Amino acid sequence: MPSDTSVFDLTDRTALVTGSTRGIGRRLAEGLSRAGATVVVHGRDRTAASMVAGEIAAATGNPVHGDAFDVTDEAAVDAGLTRIEALLGTPDILVNNAGMQIRHPLTEFPVSDWNTLVATNLTSAFLLSKRVAAGMIARGSGRIVNIGSVQSQLARPNITPYSATKGGIVMLTKGLCAELAPYGVTANAIAPGYFATELTQALVDDAEFSGWVSGRTPAARWGDVADLVGPLVFLASDASSFVNGQILYVDGGMTAVV
Ligand code: NDP
Repeated sequence: MPSDTSVFDLTDRTALVTGSTRGIGRRLAEGLSRAGATVVVHGRDRTAASMVAGEIAAATGNPVHGDAFDVTDEAAVDAGLTRIEALLGTPDILVNNAGMQIRHPLTEFPVSDWNTLVATNLTSAFLLSKRVAAGMIARGSGRIVNIGSVQSQLARPNITPYSATKGGIVMLTKGLCAELAPYGVTANAIAPGYFATELTQALVDDAEFSGWVSGRTPAARWGDVADLVGPLVFLASDASSFVNGQILYVDGGMTAVV
């Protein structure tokens, strides 16, 4: 294997990034495209997926496709992957990024919201990984990268179900490693700290909370989504061939200190 930076090259690789019509996923999709991959941009809104795919392709000069399906619906996941496989084959790289947040105090948390969070943040990664696994096993290679959170390890009030789903991502990642490593497939997770996106806009706008984030983070700032691209390219490329079942915290040091 080459020892220089060519191990990070994703030319001739295909990648599906779930939830990439905006926020973190969009920047991750663009990063994979810049590294040479043919990327599928995805969300529930087909028009948005096509539009963002066009914008990324124009920026990077590499082919980008758009597709839309609900990651919580097994039949829709199967139909979506069937379309993508007809176009590109089983993706070399699957990034399970789609996710959501709902905040309530525990005693007021409707079980319907718990179920929505579990389906969107955890069941989705199980369904997508299960669906691509057969093709990755047959090919003898594949990269699955799940998006966790500092809440994979650290709890806060009002987001107990979200934290439970992100904790679940840790053990899903390790389970995927246990089952798929023998077939040349790696499964790792990136656990971002606090990043300014639509999901966190209310917190970014809250001066008190923003001050807490800066104070609690050794790097003394919110994350910029560009900070996640290098870690993803590493975990999606040959550079990480023997890295499996790991959780990479990209959090400015937040989980390293009390
Ligand atoms: P955004 O809300 O900005 O984007 C979420 C994306 O997921 C959209 O593209 C949305 O598209 C898609 N999506 C949501 N639900 C579904 C669904 N059921 N089926 C298909 N697509 C869906 O979120 P972020 O970019 O902030 O977060 C992305 C990931 O990063 C999440 O897993 C989140 O938990 C995690 N994270 C975020 C942090 C942050 O600071 N923002 C910190 C740590 C982790 P559409 O609306 O069209 O369905």
